[in-house]
Amino acid sequence: MFETDLHAHSLFSACGLHTIIEMLTAAKIKGIRGQAITDHGPFLGRRPSSTFFERLENPVKGIRFFKGMECNVTDEAGSIDVIPKFMKWYDVVLVGFHNFSIKDAPPEYYAKIMTKALRTNPCIDIIVHPNAPHFVIDFKMIAETAAETGTAIELNNAKTRLGRSTEEQTISLIEACIEAGCDVTVNTDAHALNEVGNTDVIEALLKKTAFPTEKIVNRTLESTIEWIAKRKAIRAEFY
Ligand SMILES: [Zn+2]
Ligand SMILES: [Zn+2]
Repeated sequence: MFETDLHAHSLFSACGLHTIIEMLTAAKIKGIRGQAITDHGPFLGRRPSSTFFERLENPVKGIRFFKGMECNVTDEAGSIDVIPKFMKWYDVVLVGFHNFSIKDAPPEYYAKIMTKALRTNPCIDIIVHPNAPHFVIDFKMIAETAAETGTAIELNNAKTRLGRSTEEQTISLIEACIEAGCDVTVNTDAHALNEVGNTDVIEALLKKTAFPTEKIVNRTLESTIEWIAKRKAIRAEFY
């Protein structure tokens, strides 16, 4: 188990089931030291309010609370639905493909768009679920770009556990990350209380592939805080 989790949803997402307090309390009970709440960006029709970003501070005692958003690539030019006025409050900006399926598009198609997104939006900290079934990205290409931009690739527990991505695909993604030397985050993408803190499937695959632990940015609370500070400093230069 990792000490922090940088991807989870609350009722601010249409697909979330629980309040922020319920999610943080569950994480604390499971021994997580830092939990991000990263609801979907406006492209998916619902988003957290500015109150969440501007006013809510560590609402559950004993667990560090990180604020983020799971943003979306919105067009082929690599635009994203990040909200500029929230930029100073984001601890993490996650970006992925949702509602962007082009029938039979090859993995290079998505990798090229994500590469454009990374090059034109230096705020992107984490590429989420590059092995999601409808938008499988060319792993080699995206891992190499991530290594170059300092972006982390997400290894998403829920996608593999629910069978939406095969074990073989996730192993290929992990191997591409090892080869490129990019950072990774191991995230739950928890939508329900039982998923909070659960990284079991990815942990087993990391063991199988002898993944270098030092490349996992959320391995400890301290490594997470250090990585977020580094990413925020990069972001501050551009926004
Ligand atoms: Zn997602
Ligand atoms: Zn998510």
